[in-house]
Amino acid sequence: MDRLVYIDGRFVPAAEASISVFDHGLLYGDGVFEGIRAYNGRVFRLDEHLKRLYNGAKAILLEIPLSLDEMREGVLETLRRNQLSDAYIRLVVTRGVGDLGLDPRKCHGGPTVFIIADAIELYPPEFYERGLELITVVTRRNLPEAINPAVKSLNYLNNILAKIEVTRAGLLEGLMLNHEGYVAEATGDNVFLYTGGRLVTPPTSVGILEGITRAAVIELARELGIPIVEERFARLSVYTSDECFLTGTAAEIIPVVMVDGRKIGEGVPGPITKQLMERFRALTMNEGVPIALAREPQGRPV
Ligand code: PMP
Repeated sequence: MDRLVYIDGRFVPAAEASISVFDHGLLYGDGVFEGIRAYNGRVFRLDEHLKRLYNGAKAILLEIPLSLDEMREGVLETLRRNQLSDAYIRLVVTRGVGDLGLDPRKCHGGPTVFIIADAIELYPPEFYERGLELITVVTRRNLPEAINPAVKSLNYLNNILAKIEVTRAGLLEGLMLNHEGYVAEATGDNVFLYTGGRLVTPPTSVGILEGITRAAVIELARELGIPIVEERFARLSVYTSDECFLTGTAAEIIPVVMVDGRKIGEGVPGPITKQLMERFRALTMNEGVPIALAREPQGRPV
Protein backbone atom coordinates (compact mmCIF):
# COMPACT_ATOMS: atom_id res chain seq x y z
CA MET A 1 0.00 0.00 0.00
CA ASP A 2 1.35 3.41 -0.94
CA ARG A 3 1.58 5.42 2.24
CA LEU A 4 0.10 8.87 2.60
CA VAL A 5 2.38 11.52 4.05
CA TYR A 6 1.18 14.67 5.78
CA ILE A 7 2.91 17.77 4.40
CA ASP A 8 1.81 21.21 5.54
CA GLY A 9 -1.81 20.23 6.06
CA ARG A 10 -2.19 18.01 2.99
CA PHE A 11 -1.94 14.26 2.54
CA VAL A 12 0.09 13.17 -0.48
CA PRO A 13 1.21 9.70 -1.68
CA ALA A 14 4.68 8.84 -0.35
CA ALA A 15 6.15 8.72 -3.87
CA GLU A 16 5.09 12.34 -4.43
CA ALA A 17 5.91 13.60 -0.95
CA SER A 18 8.77 16.04 -1.45
CA ILE A 19 10.11 19.30 -0.11
CA SER A 20 12.11 22.09 -1.73
CA VAL A 21 15.88 21.86 -2.17
CA PHE A 22 15.88 25.34 -0.58
CA ASP A 23 14.35 24.02 2.63
CA HIS A 24 16.73 24.85 5.47
CA GLY A 25 15.99 21.50 7.09
CA LEU A 26 17.84 19.97 4.15
CA LEU A 27 20.42 22.71 3.57
CA TYR A 28 21.46 23.11 7.21
CA GLY A 29 19.70 20.52 9.38
CA ASP A 30 17.74 23.47 10.72
CA GLY A 31 14.70 22.01 12.41
CA VAL A 32 13.45 19.52 14.99
CA PHE A 33 11.89 16.09 14.83
CA GLU A 34 10.34 13.27 16.82
CA GLY A 35 10.21 9.51 16.52
CA ILE A 36 6.97 8.22 18.04
CA ARG A 37 5.36 4.80 18.24
CA ALA A 38 1.83 3.51 18.10
CA TYR A 39 0.96 0.19 19.68
CA ASN A 40 -2.31 -1.65 19.48
CA GLY A 41 -4.31 1.33 18.17
CA ARG A 42 -2.85 3.92 20.55
CA VAL A 43 0.00 6.39 20.35
CA PHE A 44 2.41 5.87 23.22
CA ARG A 45 3.18 9.03 25.22
CA LEU A 46 2.13 11.29 22.35
CA ASP A 47 1.86 14.40 24.52
CA GLU A 48 5.35 13.85 25.97
CA HIS A 49 6.79 13.60 22.45
CA LEU A 50 4.93 16.73 21.36
CA LYS A 51 6.12 18.61 24.43
CA ARG A 52 9.73 17.70 23.63
CA LEU A 53 9.21 18.78 20.02
CA TYR A 54 7.73 22.16 20.99
CA ASN A 55 10.39 22.73 23.66
CA GLY A 56 13.14 21.91 21.16
CA ALA A 57 11.58 24.28 18.63
CA LYS A 58 11.46 26.99 21.26
CA ALA A 59 15.12 26.42 22.08
CA ILE A 60 16.09 27.05 18.44
CA LEU A 61 13.64 29.96 18.08
CA LEU A 62 11.44 28.12 15.62
CA GLU A 63 7.76 28.84 15.92
CA ILE A 64 5.72 25.79 14.94
CA PRO A 65 2.73 26.99 12.86
CA LEU A 66 0.34 24.47 14.43
CA SER A 67 -1.13 24.40 17.90
CA LEU A 68 -0.39 21.36 20.02
CA ASP A 69 -3.93 20.13 19.42
CA GLU A 70 -3.59 20.55 15.66
CA MET A 71 -0.29 18.69 15.69
CA ARG A 72 -1.76 15.88 17.82
CA GLU A 73 -4.63 15.58 15.35
CA GLY A 74 -2.15 15.63 12.43
CA VAL A 75 -0.33 12.62 13.89
CA LEU A 76 -3.57 10.72 14.57
CA GLU A 77 -5.03 11.50 11.15
CA THR A 78 -1.81 10.32 9.45
CA LEU A 79 -2.22 6.98 11.22
CA ARG A 80 -5.90 6.78 10.30
CA ARG A 81 -5.32 7.59 6.63
CA ASN A 82 -2.72 4.82 6.49
CA GLN A 83 -4.87 2.43 8.54
CA LEU A 84 -2.03 1.80 10.93
CA SER A 85 -2.53 0.70 14.51
CA ASP A 86 1.08 -0.38 15.16
CA ALA A 87 3.51 2.05 13.61
CA TYR A 88 6.57 4.22 13.77
CA ILE A 89 5.79 7.90 13.27
CA ARG A 90 8.35 10.46 12.14
CA LEU A 91 7.31 14.04 12.77
CA VAL A 92 9.54 16.75 11.28
CA VAL A 93 9.42 20.53 11.50
CA THR A 94 11.99 22.43 9.43
CA ARG A 95 12.78 26.13 9.34
CA GLY A 96 11.19 26.14 5.87
CA VAL A 97 12.18 27.39 2.42
CA GLY A 98 14.78 30.14 2.39
CA ASP A 99 17.73 31.28 0.32
CA LEU A 100 21.26 29.88 0.30
CA GLY A 101 22.31 31.91 3.34
CA LEU A 102 22.02 30.77 6.93
CA ASP A 103 19.64 33.52 8.04
CA PRO A 104 16.38 31.89 9.15
CA ARG A 105 14.54 35.22 8.70
CA LYS A 106 14.78 34.60 4.96
CA CYS A 107 12.56 31.54 5.28
CA HIS A 108 9.51 33.57 4.33
CA GLY A 109 6.92 30.86 3.91
CA GLY A 110 7.26 29.65 7.50
CA PRO A 111 8.23 26.20 8.75
CA THR A 112 7.61 23.00 6.82
CA VAL A 113 5.79 20.29 8.78
CA PHE A 114 5.62 16.70 7.65
CA ILE A 115 4.53 13.45 9.26
CA ILE A 116 5.39 9.98 8.00
CA ALA A 117 3.84 6.84 9.48
CA ASP A 118 5.08 3.41 8.55
CA ALA A 119 5.54 -0.10 9.83
CA ILE A 120 8.19 -0.31 12.50
CA GLU A 121 11.64 -1.72 11.77
CA LEU A 122 13.04 -3.57 14.75
CA TYR A 123 16.31 -5.09 15.87
CA PRO A 124 16.18 -8.83 15.17
CA PRO A 125 14.52 -10.71 18.10
CA GLU A 126 17.71 -12.61 18.95
CA PHE A 127 19.32 -9.37 20.17
CA TYR A 128 16.54 -9.00 22.77
CA GLU A 129 17.09 -12.59 23.88
CA ARG A 130 20.89 -12.64 23.86
CA GLY A 131 21.73 -8.95 24.30
CA LEU A 132 23.82 -6.44 22.35
CA GLU A 133 27.55 -5.95 22.19
CA LEU A 134 28.67 -2.30 22.28
CA ILE A 135 31.85 -0.36 21.82
CA THR A 136 32.62 3.09 23.14
CA VAL A 137 33.04 5.37 20.16
CA VAL A 138 35.74 8.01 19.75
CA THR A 139 33.26 10.68 18.61
CA ARG A 140 32.16 12.65 21.67
CA ARG A 141 28.57 13.79 22.21
CA ASN A 142 27.96 17.42 21.22
CA LEU A 143 28.78 20.05 23.84
CA PRO A 144 25.54 21.22 25.46
CA GLU A 145 26.85 24.77 25.12
CA ALA A 146 27.09 24.29 21.33
CA ILE A 147 24.23 22.08 20.17
CA ASN A 148 22.37 20.84 23.21
CA PRO A 149 21.71 17.10 22.84
CA ALA A 150 18.44 17.71 24.73
CA VAL A 151 17.12 19.30 21.53
CA LYS A 152 16.16 16.62 19.04
CA SER A 153 17.33 18.70 16.13
CA LEU A 154 17.61 17.64 12.49
CA ASN A 155 21.36 18.07 12.86
CA TYR A 156 22.21 14.44 13.71
CA LEU A 157 25.70 14.35 12.23
CA ASN A 158 27.24 13.87 15.68
CA ASN A 159 25.23 10.66 16.13
CA ILE A 160 25.78 9.57 12.52
CA LEU A 161 29.57 9.81 12.86
CA ALA A 162 29.30 7.69 15.99
CA LYS A 163 27.01 5.22 14.18
CA ILE A 164 29.56 4.87 11.38
CA GLU A 165 32.20 3.87 13.95
CA VAL A 166 29.77 1.33 15.36
CA THR A 167 28.84 -0.24 12.04
CA ARG A 168 32.49 -0.35 10.93
CA ALA A 169 33.11 -2.44 14.02
CA GLY A 170 30.32 -4.76 12.85
CA LEU A 171 28.00 -3.82 15.72
CA LEU A 172 24.56 -2.22 16.07
CA GLU A 173 25.05 0.35 18.83
CA GLY A 174 27.79 2.18 20.69
CA LEU A 175 28.29 4.30 23.78
CA MET A 176 29.01 7.99 23.43
CA LEU A 177 30.89 9.91 26.12
CA ASN A 178 30.48 13.60 26.77
CA HIS A 179 33.37 16.07 26.45
CA GLU A 180 34.48 15.26 30.03
CA GLY A 181 34.53 11.52 29.46
CA TYR A 182 31.32 10.69 31.30
CA VAL A 183 29.01 8.18 29.66
CA ALA A 184 26.24 10.12 27.92
CA GLU A 185 24.07 7.81 25.81
CA ALA A 186 24.10 5.50 22.80
CA THR A 187 23.89 6.89 19.26
CA GLY A 188 20.10 6.67 19.30
CA ASP A 189 19.17 5.37 22.75
CA ASN A 190 19.63 6.19 26.44
CA VAL A 191 21.69 3.97 28.72
CA PHE A 192 21.00 2.38 32.12
CA LEU A 193 23.13 0.28 34.48
CA TYR A 194 22.02 -1.95 37.31
CA THR A 195 24.81 -1.93 39.82
CA GLY A 196 25.06 -2.32 43.60
CA GLY A 197 21.33 -2.93 43.84
CA ARG A 198 20.27 0.28 42.08
CA LEU A 199 19.52 1.47 38.59
CA VAL A 200 21.73 4.30 37.40
CA THR A 201 21.30 6.49 34.34
CA PRO A 202 23.19 9.66 33.35
CA PRO A 203 21.49 12.92 34.35
CA THR A 204 20.43 15.34 31.63
CA SER A 205 23.24 17.67 32.71
CA VAL A 206 25.74 15.25 31.11
CA GLY A 207 24.30 16.30 27.73
CA ILE A 208 21.78 13.72 26.54
CA LEU A 209 18.40 13.50 24.92
CA GLU A 210 15.83 13.18 27.68
CA GLY A 211 14.26 10.03 26.29
CA ILE A 212 10.56 9.33 26.60
CA THR A 213 11.38 5.64 27.10
CA ARG A 214 13.98 6.60 29.71
CA ALA A 215 11.28 8.47 31.65
CA ALA A 216 8.92 5.49 31.38
CA VAL A 217 11.63 3.13 32.69
CA ILE A 218 12.34 5.45 35.63
CA GLU A 219 8.60 5.38 36.47
CA LEU A 220 8.43 1.59 36.17
CA ALA A 221 11.50 1.15 38.40
CA ARG A 222 9.88 3.33 41.07
CA GLU A 223 6.67 1.29 40.85
CA LEU A 224 8.66 -1.91 41.24
CA GLY A 225 10.58 -0.52 44.23
CA ILE A 226 13.93 -0.66 42.41
CA PRO A 227 16.14 2.22 43.62
CA ILE A 228 16.88 4.54 40.69
CA VAL A 229 19.33 7.43 40.55
CA GLU A 230 20.44 9.87 37.88
CA GLU A 231 24.18 10.01 38.39
CA ARG A 232 27.30 10.64 36.33
CA PHE A 233 29.50 7.64 35.65
CA ALA A 234 32.51 6.78 33.50
CA ARG A 235 33.20 3.67 31.43
CA LEU A 236 34.59 1.67 34.34
CA SER A 237 31.14 1.69 35.98
CA VAL A 238 29.69 0.16 32.82
CA TYR A 239 32.33 -2.58 32.71
CA THR A 240 31.75 -3.52 36.34
CA SER A 241 27.95 -3.24 36.35
CA ASP A 242 25.70 -6.25 36.94
CA GLU A 243 23.35 -5.34 34.11
CA CYS A 244 23.19 -2.79 31.34
CA PHE A 245 20.45 -1.91 28.85
CA LEU A 246 19.48 0.76 26.35
CA THR A 247 16.13 2.48 25.95
CA GLY A 248 14.52 4.20 22.98
CA THR A 249 11.26 4.50 21.10
CA ALA A 250 12.35 2.13 18.33
CA ALA A 251 14.53 -0.21 20.44
CA GLU A 252 12.24 -0.14 23.52
CA ILE A 253 14.43 -1.81 26.19
CA ILE A 254 17.33 -3.84 24.82
CA PRO A 255 19.85 -5.68 27.00
CA VAL A 256 23.60 -5.07 26.66
CA VAL A 257 25.90 -8.00 27.49
CA MET A 258 29.34 -6.88 26.27
CA VAL A 259 31.02 -3.45 26.20
CA ASP A 260 34.51 -2.87 24.75
CA GLY A 261 35.23 -6.59 25.10
CA ARG A 262 34.16 -6.69 28.77
CA LYS A 263 31.37 -9.09 29.65
CA ILE A 264 28.58 -7.36 31.60
CA GLY A 265 27.48 -9.43 34.61
CA GLU A 266 27.06 -13.02 33.49
CA GLY A 267 27.11 -12.02 29.83
CA VAL A 268 23.39 -12.65 29.44
CA PRO A 269 20.37 -10.34 29.91
CA GLY A 270 19.88 -9.94 33.67
CA PRO A 271 16.72 -10.38 35.76
CA ILE A 272 16.11 -6.65 36.39
CA THR A 273 16.43 -5.90 32.67
CA LYS A 274 14.04 -8.73 31.82
CA GLN A 275 11.54 -7.59 34.43
CA LEU A 276 11.58 -4.05 33.07
CA MET A 277 11.23 -5.32 29.50
CA GLU A 278 8.13 -7.24 30.50
CA ARG A 279 6.62 -4.30 32.39
CA PHE A 280 7.39 -1.92 29.56
CA ARG A 281 5.70 -4.22 27.07
CA ALA A 282 2.57 -4.26 29.24
CA LEU A 283 2.67 -0.46 29.55
CA THR A 284 2.81 0.06 25.78
CA MET A 285 -0.17 -2.26 25.34
CA ASN A 286 -2.32 -0.50 27.92
CA GLU A 287 -1.51 3.16 27.62
CA GLY A 288 -1.67 5.81 24.92
CA VAL A 289 -3.82 8.22 22.95
CA PRO A 290 -6.44 6.23 20.99
CA ILE A 291 -6.04 6.68 17.24
CA ALA A 292 -9.69 6.05 16.37
CA LEU A 293 -11.45 7.84 19.19
CA ALA A 294 -10.20 11.33 18.42
CA ARG A 295 -13.19 11.67 16.11
CA GLU A 296 -16.68 11.58 17.57
CA PRO A 297 -18.57 8.46 16.56
CA GLN A 298 -21.22 9.20 13.94
CA GLY A 299 -24.00 7.62 15.89
CA ARG A 300 -24.77 4.89 18.32
CA PRO A 301 -25.65 1.46 17.05
CA VAL A 302 -29.31 0.76 17.74
N1 PMP B 1 19.13 9.47 22.59
C1 PMP B 1 19.16 9.79 21.29
C2 PMP B 1 20.34 10.49 20.74
C3 PMP B 1 18.07 9.47 20.46
O1 PMP B 1 18.08 9.79 19.17
C4 PMP B 1 16.97 8.78 21.02
C5 PMP B 1 15.80 8.40 20.13
N2 PMP B 1 14.83 9.42 20.07
C6 PMP B 1 16.98 8.47 22.38
C7 PMP B 1 18.09 8.83 23.14
C8 PMP B 1 15.81 7.77 23.05
O2 PMP B 1 14.74 8.67 23.20
P1 PMP B 1 13.23 8.15 23.16
O3 PMP B 1 13.08 7.16 24.26
O4 PMP B 1 12.41 9.37 23.40
O5 PMP B 1 13.00 7.55 21.82
